[in-house]
Amino acid sequence: MRDFSRDTSALALNTATLGHNLDGHGAGWSPEQVIDACAERGFGGIVFWRREIGTRAVQIGELVRAAGMQVVGLCRTPYLTGREAGSDAEVTASIDMAAALGAPVLTIVTGGTEPGSKGLEDSRKRLAERIAQHLDHARACNVKLAMEPLNPMFGGNRTCLFAARDALGVCEMIGDAQVGLAVDVYHVWWDTTLPETLARAPGRILGYHLCDWLENTSHMLLDRGMMGDGVADLKAIRAAVEAAGYAGPCEVEIFSAADWWQRPPDEVLDTIVDRFQSVC
Ligand code: ZN
Repeated sequence: MRDFSRDTSALALNTATLGHNLDGHGAGWSPEQVIDACAERGFGGIVFWRREIGTRAVQIGELVRAAGMQVVGLCRTPYLTGREAGSDAEVTASIDMAAALGAPVLTIVTGGTEPGSKGLEDSRKRLAERIAQHLDHARACNVKLAMEPLNPMFGGNRTCLFAARDALGVCEMIGDAQVGLAVDVYHVWWDTTLPETLARAPGRILGYHLCDWLENTSHMLLDRGMMGDGVADLKAIRAAVEAAGYAGPCEVEIFSAADWWQRPPDEVLDTIVDRFQSVC
């Protein structure tokens, strides 16, 4: 397992941690401010959300690399399944934005169950079909597609993948190396089968997302914990991820409306560096 105690090169910031994915949250820093603050602290990369990028993808990508970091990924495609599924044109546009940023990975939050369906089988088939339709374009753009399974409490309207094994099942249906999964501590910490599941998925892990599960979670979307403040076994989860061959960035993604989004970004970033080196 990698030793992070004196090395932050694998540390990446998902800008949602500063409130950037939702209107009216966080300190409202520009991409330039985020880039400078992360570079100063030795972060290795940044993950942006589409809403921050607008038409400046090429420029922002260049600024990140000029600061000595990588654009690690982009969040995210529109939903691919369910009542709120986006159009093919929107999916293509999200792939194009990732390519323009120089982001090697585009995250997929799948969307919910297909209208009129029961259970999950129809939705997962539809998901596999829609991803397959976009693979050639993603390949041409050098962008891999990472399905992120979400905690089962997000079933219904937000996801049809609840565990790493569900995402791997869809990977197997698609059968293409351009697609894999992202492992997010918030969504997998409860899953005692994670090590066995990931062991049969060498090369499929495209991202690892850090936060913590608070013992008393007060809001299912917006009350994630800072690493070390909760009950997830962070080192054990990373051990499973790395045993499956993952050696990429560790992306801190903390949605925290009542706590971390209320604090000055400098404090949040300093805390992340400290916790990354000590508890992750
Ligand atoms: Zn995540």
